[in-house]
Parts: sequence; structure tokens; C-alpha cells
Amino acid sequence: MTQSFPSPAAHARAVLAELGVSGLPADGGIAVRCPLDGAILTQVAYDDARAIDAKVSAASKAFRAWRTVPAPRRGELVRLLGEELRAAKNELAALVTLEAGKIASEAAGEVQEMIDICDFAVGLSRQLYGLTIASERPGHAMRETWHPLGPVLVISAFNFPVAVWAWNAALALVCGNPVIWKPSEKTPLTAVATQAILERALARFGDAPEGLCSVVLGGRDAGERLVRDPALALVSATGSTRMGQAVAPIVAARFGRSILELGGNNAMIVAPSADLSLAVRAIVFSAAGTAGQRCTSLRRLIVHESLVDKVADAVEGAFSRLPVGDPRQAGVLLGPLHDKAAYDAFVAAMDQARADGGTVSGGERLLIDEHPEAYYVRPALARLPAPSAGMQRETFAPLLHVVPYRDFDEAVAIQNDVPQGLSSCVMTQDIREAEAFLAASGSDCGIANVNIGPSGAEIGGAFGGEKETGGGRESGSDSWKQYMRRQTATVNYSGALPLAQGVKFDL
Ligand code: NAD
Repeated sequence: MTQSFPSPAAHARAVLAELGVSGLPADGGIAVRCPLDGAILTQVAYDDARAIDAKVSAASKAFRAWRTVPAPRRGELVRLLGEELRAAKNELAALVTLEAGKIASEAAGEVQEMIDICDFAVGLSRQLYGLTIASERPGHAMRETWHPLGPVLVISAFNFPVAVWAWNAALALVCGNPVIWKPSEKTPLTAVATQAILERALARFGDAPEGLCSVVLGGRDAGERLVRDPALALVSATGSTRMGQAVAPIVAARFGRSILELGGNNAMIVAPSADLSLAVRAIVFSAAGTAGQRCTSLRRLIVHESLVDKVADAVEGAFSRLPVGDPRQAGVLLGPLHDKAAYDAFVAAMDQARADGGTVSGGERLLIDEHPEAYYVRPALARLPAPSAGMQRETFAPLLHVVPYRDFDEAVAIQNDVPQGLSSCVMTQDIREAEAFLAASGSDCGIANVNIGPSGAEIGGAFGGEKETGGGRESGSDSWKQYMRRQTATVNYSGALPLAQGVKFDL
């Protein structure tokens, strides 16, 4: 039975009221459209240059205080943030659905990711370990210490409107750094709501400095202004490769640090020994889930020639049955593309696949009568005889290219032969193939999986990719080190002054 829902705009207002967020929508501000129906979801006022600069100088001031707060105490703020996120999980997830178009389960999963990274960061706040190093000189001690770095700028994309901020902010805060967030101009409400949730944690924490965390609402101009500001020690930017190409040289020219999390063009190899029922489920989730709008979405399927028709037929059948519609509706697995530009890119990529000699199934626009201004689509499958020009690009939509391979080395070569290097996987029960895929001469991606799809990473590992994906790593493992500066200290507790490498300089 189909449930009825209020209009997305009314729904968003109700959720914001439940979260206690006031001051929105700002009449006369910049219109934000909802992917569910294409109508105006809200209007927001952008920060002007003065407001942006004031937030940067407040963050610089906050840094001088926050860096001296003991790290476990800083962790207490992140613990409280995790608690507030747990309490507001349903409301924030509802806003993610309304702004980014994710189905309820994926939206809840995104907020869960925020909670998970908070838990990780709280533990980390007592484990910002340095090193002691054996000195070659008698009566000397050497050590390596990690100190807070400075204010961190987080630029985020529309498709993970809140988790990306949390990955960065939770680590940055325990590492002793203020955070300025420039969310996507397509998803300001989730950012404002997240800031309100954070402010509850700050109020309970009590004595955090003013300006420790702020949100700058704005478009590319606001991002560019912030990126140029030398007060922002680290720029963690998530979005398209085009954005990264603009941001990276500016940050490098001022010797700032950057973490770039850019576009992916992710592949799966399906080998003859693969468990096919598992493979098809992994393919359908990773290619069609989130309507193909994850940086880790599966875009290229490289299947052994003996199985390629069988696998393609099974995926085509699953695509044709996937329930597409309002992502608030129980049972729907595929929400809309974000906007007309996304739909146009989807159509152009299907045309390119045909021009490349492929046959395309699916890809129809759906629900046009109900939602003429929104872009719901059936996922598309492009069967190609060989890797094509169109397969070199990331199209942020549910279009899966399928090509055959003969031997495993060829499959790995096809997998690596794109400019991007985010996520990859192999479906095989052959241990030699699995290990070869993970070896130095195997996948060249930041993420390489065996018998799972390329999307849906856990927060415990470092997340990011090579080549045009930007080379950054965030979230788990030792990603925290990028948010700190490393200091090597040598202490002489002898009465002599021996020089390193035996150098003599006697006066
Ligand atoms: P986008 O590049 O259009 O925008 C991302 C953010 O960058 C926005 O906040 C935008 O305002 C800002 N921005 C754009 N140009 C800028 C500039 N010159 N200077 C400073 N800021 C600028 O990306 P999008 O359409 O929102 O997101 C989709 C893209 O993001 C896809 O390519 C996807 O693969 C990528 N993405 C990557 C990851 C990852 O972790 N690798 C995660 C999510 C999304």
C-alpha cells in the first residue's frame, strides 16, 4: 500500500521544527530544489564575504584555545556529539532523504556513519600516539609528537551531505582543530540541522571556545574564498575531479595541506569461480543503490567471457524489477537523480555507450506524470564488446557498463585502465585470483574488495583513492595524522654536546 506524505517542503519544515531549528526558510534567499518533486524545498541566505572572513577569524581565535585543551577532554565534546546524533538520528535522516533523495535505510545509514566516526574519534582522543626514537648520541632522548594543526576547512558534496563532514570534523576536533564547513549548495538544510545538533553538544560541553565549528552557506564562490585563505591549515574537499583540479593548486601555492576525495569510476571483476547469486546482489546494490550517485557506485563490470551473458541477463532482470519512487515510501529501493543536469548527463552517457558500439537496456525516465520536475529513472545496463571511450568517465547516475574478459591479467588491466582510482572489487573463490587482485601488481585503487561490491565502506578503514580521485584518505586507520603537525624533538640531558654523525666542531 502506498503511504501518503506531506509535500517535501512541508515535511522539511516539520522535521526542522522537531529539531528545534529556527530561522529557515529565509524568504528571498537562494532557492534549493528538492530532488523528490523538483519544487522549491527551502530558500537560504548565503554568507557574504564579510561573514565568511569573520568565521575564519573566529576559527583562528578558537584554535589558540582549543589546541591547549587536553585531547581526551576534546574527545568528550565528540562523545556528546555522538549522543546528540543518536537522539536526532531519525530527523536528520529524514532531511537527508528530502535533500539528497536517499531511501530511508540509506539515509539512516549515513547518520549511523556519523555516529560511528564519533565513537572512533572518542577512542582516538586517548591514542594520539607519538614515538620515542633511539638517539645515536649518549645522554640524548628523541621523540616524535603530534600537535594540533590549525583550522580545517571541509568542503562537501551533495550526495553525502552529512557523513563527510562528520568523518572530518570528529577527527579534526579531537586533534585540536576548529572546523569550518562549506556544504554543497544543493544540501544546506542538512548542514544547518547538523550544526544545530552540534550546538546542543557544545552547550552540554560547556566551555568550548566561540567559533570552534561553523557553517558557511554558499556556492562555488564561497568555497573559492575559503580555499584561498591561508588561515585554513587543511582543506578537506569532497566532490568532482573538476572541483579538485581547481582547489589543489590554490592550496599548494600557499603551502596548505589538502585531502582530496574526488570522482570514482569503480569496477568489479566477476571470475568463473564467483558465487553468482552473491555477485548479482552486490552488483545491483552497488550500481543502482542511491540511484548510482555514490562516489563508490559500480560503473564498470568486467565479466569472464563464459559468464558475461548470464550475469548481464540476471542484472538486467533485477534492474527491471527494482522499485523506483518517492524514497520516503517503504519498499522503494531507488530514489530520484538529483536534478535535470544529472538526468541529462545520464542520457548523454547512454548515447555515448551506443555510439561506442554497445546495446543499452533500461534507462527510461519514470513517474513523469506525478513529478514532471523530478528525475526518476530505471537503472541502465550497457553491454559492450570491449572497453569503450565512455567507460573512461564518471557519470553520476545508475548506468552500468559490462565488458567481457578472457584471462585474469586482462581483467585487472581493464580495471586499472581509467583515470580514476577509488574503489574496486573481485568476485572469485580462487585464492590465487583474490591475492593477485590485492597485490602490488593488482588493483591500483585506494579500496580493493574481495566478494563484496565497491560501495558501502566502514569507517574503520582509511577511505579514498588514487589518480584523479585525488589521493586523499580520511576516516579510519591513521588518517588522523593529516589533521596534526608532526614535531621531532631531541633532548640533551648530558653535560656534553656531541654532534650527530660524529661531526667535530670544537671551539
Ligand atoms: P561538486 O564538485 O559539484 O561540488 C562539491 C563541493 O565543492 C560543493 O560544496 C561545491 O560548492 C564546491 N566547489 C565546487 N567548485 C569549487 C571550487 N572551485 N572551489 C571551492 N569549492 C568548490 O560535486 P557534487 O556534484 O556535489 O558531488 C558529486 C561528485 O563528488 C562526484 O564526482 C563524486 O564522485 C564526488 N564524491 C567523491 C567522494 C569521495 O569520497 N571520493 C564522496 C562523495 C562524492
